Amino acid sequence: MSEKTIFKRIIDKEIPASIVYEDDLCLAFHDVAPQAPVHVLVIPKKELRSLDDVEPEDAPLIGHIFAVIRRLARELGVAEGGYRVVSNCGQNAMQTVPHLHFHLIGGRGFAWPPG
Ligand code: 5GP
Repeated sequence: MSEKTIFKRIIDKEIPASIVYEDDLCLAFHDVAPQAPVHVLVIPKKELRSLDDVEPEDAPLIGHIFAVIRRLARELGVAEGGYRVVSNCGQNAMQTVPHLHFHLIGGRGFAWPPG
């Protein structure tokens, strides 16, 4: 079996994280290197490597995660001003942790296009 990712170790509570939300399906915690005043990672507990691993059967899970993101945006005070949700998928997108995750970032203005 391949080695656990850092996020799987956070799910299994083997390493600490600043958790802001948890349920049976997903976990949300502050990014260790925040790129904005609010920078939270929302991850499924299911071990999917990236968005490219998502199958049609995962639709309820992904829908649930986006409902959690919306809720967190309100709780963390960025819903009104606006926020960005990013999922880096694969090498060209500079994904560094091979466990599906959504960055919820807000609290400042962002540029477009991304670098
Ligand atoms: P990616 O580059 O794969 O889209 O995003 C991975 C994110 O995970 C990065 O923003 C990075 O700062 C964050 N990260 C990596 N290791 C840890 C960790 O051990 N704890 C937390 N809270 N965040 C981490």
